[in-house]
Amino acid sequence: MSERSVIAKVLGPSCVAGIAVIAAIFVLGAGTSWGAAAAAAVTTTLIVTGTVAARTLRRHTRDLTQIAGAALLDSNQTTSASAIISTRNPLHPLALSVDRMREEIEHGATVAVEKRILESAFGALEASIAIIAPDGRVAYANESFREFEVLRVDRIETNATVERLVTATRNAGRPLVETTVVGKPARTLRLGAAALDDGHVVVSAVDASESNRLSAVRRDFVADASHELKTPIAAIQSSAETLRVALAHGDLDAADKFTAYVIENTTRLGHLVNDLLDLSRIESETLDVSPIDLAAIVIDQVDSFRTAATKRNITLEVAATTAMVAGDANHLSMAVRNLIANAIQNTAERGTVQVAIHCGDATAEVTVSDNGRGIPSRDLPRLFERFYRVDHARSRTDGGTGLGLAIVKHVAENHGGSIDVESALGEGSAFTLRIPRTQG
Ligand code: ADP
Repeated sequence: MSERSVIAKVLGPSCVAGIAVIAAIFVLGAGTSWGAAAAAAVTTTLIVTGTVAARTLRRHTRDLTQIAGAALLDSNQTTSASAIISTRNPLHPLALSVDRMREEIEHGATVAVEKRILESAFGALEASIAIIAPDGRVAYANESFREFEVLRVDRIETNATVERLVTATRNAGRPLVETTVVGKPARTLRLGAAALDDGHVVVSAVDASESNRLSAVRRDFVADASHELKTPIAAIQSSAETLRVALAHGDLDAADKFTAYVIENTTRLGHLVNDLLDLSRIESETLDVSPIDLAAIVIDQVDSFRTAATKRNITLEVAATTAMVAGDANHLSMAVRNLIANAIQNTAERGTVQVAIHCGDATAEVTVSDNGRGIPSRDLPRLFERFYRVDHARSRTDGGTGLGLAIVKHVAENHGGSIDVESALGEGSAFTLRIPRTQG
């Protein structure tokens, strides 16, 4: 309603009343003094006009207050301004437009809330998600998508692969996937895209670098393990065939020799299978952690090697002080066993192998040192890799599998610790296993 019509509505009845009163005075004034009549007329006009105007203003003020009240109600309340003000009321059009505005504001608020919910849901996802608008604008990208730096600014044109994928997905009308390499160091991203009905395209990105690396490690491991297993199996097979021929010819010397080959390679096969099982257990089992005194493990393992050391005239010394760690007793025993076995294996007769525990502030250290053959410095960086051997031929005759130190490394890392080696060729080696300490 216009301002003028409101004024007319307020003042209209007052004016009509005033004119009526003045006309009455003219009629009545015929028999009285004109001065007194005029004064009475003006006074009466003012009183009547004022009363009518005040009543009208009061009514409109009440209506406006109701409209304002309905406009300010929160979205849970249903009373609308137009429902309060009757259709005959001149303020009804105003009430209708207040209703319309309120609806628009409520709709806007709902959209904003939904947007916030979606953003925090996508933000909490580990998956990397972006939504590309039909005009190529990045309508939304969660934090983890932005971390990939696939889209440097908020347009898909900044990455040719994403742009191609988005366009192809819209055209194909079905989800598509694509791979791209980004960043330094290079990371392989697997991108997936699905088009929505309104032309937006949802793009997800997954960093495939780590899983690719793990698949490659697994592939290499299976190839290496098969190769390692094939060698003794082939030796057993050919020795067994030759043994049969030797027996057929009554050649007992040859039969004896090839029987020894069969036994040697069967033993080797057994070691290999045992070490492979140990390694796979360590990789797949969850640690059975309890408070452990490393001294008890070290003393136990040293004792189990006493006979082997005596046989080779090797002095086996131990200096163990209490060192409490939270660990898996079986796994830690396996690691200490492998280190002592290697030290004895690689130390000449009359040599010395020492096992000592040292407690640092944060870690307990088990050091296994020997004055044996030592390790060439070029071999040290790869020493803890699976199947890595310093000397293949010697390892074979010694019955080594090349898995012992890989097992030690796994055990150390599973416990949040580490394994280090210091060695000098011809002088000896010292391996130090560090495990985080607990108080006790
Ligand atoms: P293996 O079962 O063949 O001994 P490991 O993984 O235990 O395999 O050891 C890897 C390589 O490191 C082997 O070639 C082994 O001879 C060498 N090595 C391990 N410990 C010592 C040591 N104390 N002194 C010299 N060489 C060692």
